[in-house]
Amino acid sequence: MMYAARADGALNLRDIKGAVVDMDGVLWRGDQPLLGVQSFFRLLRARGLPFMLASNNSSKSPADYVARLSRMGVPDVQASEIVSSGTTTVDYLQQHYPVETPIHVLGGDGLKQLIAAAGFTLSDEASVVVVGIDFELTYDRLKRAALLIRAGADFIGTNADTTFPAPEGLVPGAGSLLAAIHAATGREPLVMGKPGAAMFHTALRRLGTEPANTVMIGDRLNTDVAGAQAVGLRTALVLSGVSTLDELAASTIQPDVVFADLAALVEAWEREPTRR
Ligand SMILES: [Mg+2]
Repeated sequence: MMYAARADGALNLRDIKGAVVDMDGVLWRGDQPLLGVQSFFRLLRARGLPFMLASNNSSKSPADYVARLSRMGVPDVQASEIVSSGTTTVDYLQQHYPVETPIHVLGGDGLKQLIAAAGFTLSDEASVVVVGIDFELTYDRLKRAALLIRAGADFIGTNADTTFPAPEGLVPGAGSLLAAIHAATGREPLVMGKPGAAMFHTALRRLGTEPANTVMIGDRLNTDVAGAQAVGLRTALVLSGVSTLDELAASTIQPDVVFADLAALVEAWEREPTRR
């Protein structure tokens, strides 16, 4: 089922030349693949439409997502087709700091490995602090990051999600760590993940498409849709994740088009041959 599209400048799927696709709540929920995942990738490949899978999660590597998709019957996604708040952070560091800059990371091993693999030296004495989710957070780690930031280090956050869904309920996310450091330093982080612009810019650069004919497909109004619109992308909301129809009705953030799930989006897109 397709819900009402926005009245102004209705989105024509024929004009879409590329897609940025959120994963959790769009392709799967928890461990469960959602309806339409395989047909979605078949459609994109058949039409030669480039895509970037975009996650705010910095604790998983592109290879982790490739493996996960493969288990879901989507075997041909490349690591280069995945951007996370971690890979966006690396892109940002490479563009703004010489590679010899020491970087302090408060975060998981995945994030540390990504930054080290780009050639940066990880250090406890640094003028740049990157903060991501850290499942082994200790007071000492928090203290080290806060002291560096108080001393003037740049403060970069991978993503601002204060919570994320886990089997036990909503548990603290990277945004909660940023809040703790903000409380301890009075400093605001520069945030890489959605709804910030950095991840969308990274995705567009890799896609080689213009924002106006690139669609963001996501399940969260306040991150996927709001962030994409700020950069000029078209937006499709699917209701298979976080945001609900009631929230949509009450929100000032309105996507171009809304679908019950990815399967409904594929069905609508299949009826619209891509304009060359
Ligand atoms: Mg999501």
